[in-house]
Amino acid sequence: MAKMYYEKDCKLELLKGKKVAVLGFGSQGHAHALNLKESGVSVVVGLYEGSKSWKKAESAGLEVQTAEKAVADADLVMMLLPDEKQASVYKSKVEPNLKKDAALVFAHGFNIHFSQIVPPASNDVFMVAPKGPGHLVRRLYQEGMGVPALFAVHQDASGKAREFAMAYALGIGAARAGVIETTFKEETETDLFGEQAVLCGGVTELVKAGFETLVSAGYQEEIAYFECLHELKLIVDLLYEGGLERMRYSVSDTAEYGDYQVGKRIVNEETRAEMKKVLSEIQNGEFAKAWILENMAGRPVFNAKRRQETEHPMVGVGKKLRSMMSWLPNQEGFDA
Ligand code: NDP
Ligand code: MG
Ligand code: MG
Repeated sequence: MAKMYYEKDCKLELLKGKKVAVLGFGSQGHAHALNLKESGVSVVVGLYEGSKSWKKAESAGLEVQTAEKAVADADLVMMLLPDEKQASVYKSKVEPNLKKDAALVFAHGFNIHFSQIVPPASNDVFMVAPKGPGHLVRRLYQEGMGVPALFAVHQDASGKAREFAMAYALGIGAARAGVIETTFKEETETDLFGEQAVLCGGVTELVKAGFETLVSAGYQEEIAYFECLHELKLIVDLLYEGGLERMRYSVSDTAEYGDYQVGKRIVNEETRAEMKKVLSEIQNGEFAKAWILENMAGRPVFNAKRRQETEHPMVGVGKKLRSMMSWLPNQEGFDA
């Protein structure tokens, strides 16, 4: 069993008198910067001239500087830019300005684990990775709760990197829910696997396959949408609250019997074998290489896929059905 750490195990005092530069003000950036500030930590947000996020961060009451300036003054530098931009921003703006004893912090291990960023040996390098989207990291903090997180130490130059990581985890509220120690390798590989095989890739293809099967058999698109996508939320809420057992307790016995009979025919031996292959492509760096090269080439495959997906019949039906659900968040652009 992994050892869990909670608020009582973390010393927020370690961050007193320190300046934290949060680079980026997107999904994670806004949550970390605001939560830390409200926990009494001195924070500056680092962006670039012309950044859309600059005004947002300022109107949220935060100090904003260019990344170069923010780094030059910081004792901790948290890298919350998109993973694919981190290596070049690190080279041009972070490394030349990084104080000799400043800690370099990540919310995901990709760039360190796959050696896209190689920090000097004099600096602490650690990770605090919330296990949830940034908007939840912010909302739960405001409600007195938190999103659990993983932490890991890659370089311990100060001899205190672990304690700093745990203090940071408390500052963003994660220690209220529990933090687990890991390594950059474990976090990176499990995170990539989870999003590819289960959370994003697995779920979207499962939903589409279910929808397409029903529609091609002549059922109404709206019913197929409700059944295969909309209702997923109810199921996921039950899973989140009480695991597989709570979901199975709550659904009808007919649904539970169908679950036992059919689940393994959908996620079958072939699927499991493919999952192992996906994992080994993550472990041996093949996925990382493809994604790094894809970005260097200007994302031709990514952009084509994104466009193709907007043409799926579920998109139109979904838009129409959701427009009648006034309680849903703004549907334009899904902005913060
Ligand atoms: P986002 O894409 O949401 O954040 C982008 C932010 O970076 C924006 O504020 C953007 O500004 C800014 N930015 C872009 N380029 C630069 C630059 N050159 N210099 C300074 N700022 C820049 O990122 P995420 O929050 O999704 O991801 C951040 C990190 O957190 C990643 O390592 C990710 O793996 C990790 N993570 C993310 C999770 C999530 O919930 N999304 C969950 C757990 C970890 P502008 O828009 O103005 O260009
Ligand atoms: Mg993840
Ligand atoms: Mg991820």
